[in-house]
Amino acid sequence: MAERTDHRHGTDPGYEQARRILSEASGIVVLTGAGVSTDSGIPDFRGPDGVWTRDPEAEKYSSIDHYLSSSEVRKGAWRRRAENPAWHAEPNAGHLALAELERRGRLELLVTQNIDGLHLRAGNSRERLVEVHGTMLDAVCVACGRRGPMREVLDRLEAGEEDPPCPDCGGILKSATVLFGEALDERDIHRAFDAAAAAEVLLCVGTSLQVFPIARMVPIALSQGAQVVIVNGEPTPYDDDAAVVRGSISEVLPGLLGL
Ligand code: NAD
Repeated sequence: MAERTDHRHGTDPGYEQARRILSEASGIVVLTGAGVSTDSGIPDFRGPDGVWTRDPEAEKYSSIDHYLSSSEVRKGAWRRRAENPAWHAEPNAGHLALAELERRGRLELLVTQNIDGLHLRAGNSRERLVEVHGTMLDAVCVACGRRGPMREVLDRLEAGEEDPPCPDCGGILKSATVLFGEALDERDIHRAFDAAAAAEVLLCVGTSLQVFPIARMVPIALSQGAQVVIVNGEPTPYDDDAAVVRGSISEVLPGLLGL
């Protein structure tokens, strides 16, 4: 990608500060959230058009207890999964900029809270990606742990099953994502926190930084002397300690990274 100046942000002190911090860093640790994928047509949860902003009731569908509580609940969850816009989404300029950052050897680690697989589709490698909340592209059995492609379960839905059981043990299937009430993978969290502790620069993109424990990456990085850049459409709890850039991620991120 060619060097260009983003004239719309040329006078924004936050933008200039963030661009300088990012350009001077030899390596960057990145944390992304749902906001990086909204320009691909996948709504976030807490943004102005977020799923939970529009329907606060929807938050309860994200808890494991609710999911396991009845077959009726799961039938609704499977219908929503099948209709998720992520199945037809393409990576946007924000995802592509982060893939280019890795190609140029400047990405230390990409930690994402997203479950849509778009960072991999954009070209980031599995080696440098941590999907802390899992992936919707796989399904797992809560009883025996069997894991397989979500596509196979969606095919069974299309064939008429409403709450498809595990083909091995008959247990309850769910998407391979972390619901409220479920533990995160310890290795993923350690990798993310270790990267934050060692970071020269931590870049947070499209996240409200309200989901813990992963939001702790920010205070961990700050406590070890890292600089923090936040690109988000709305305020976050850490804005006072960071260089903050507002605006649409897919529009500002490539220029901000000097791509
Ligand atoms: P969030 O919904 O809490 O916050 C997203 C933030 O992004 C908001 O503050 C919003 O203002 C900002 N934003 C949205 N679109 C933007 C844009 N185009 N430009 C600039 N800013 C923009 O998201 P979160 O912090 O990632 O946490 C929500 C949880 O929901 C995560 O745990 C994640 O697993 C899950 N989730 C994932 C997806 C996905 O995979 N695409 C979608 C929705 C929710």
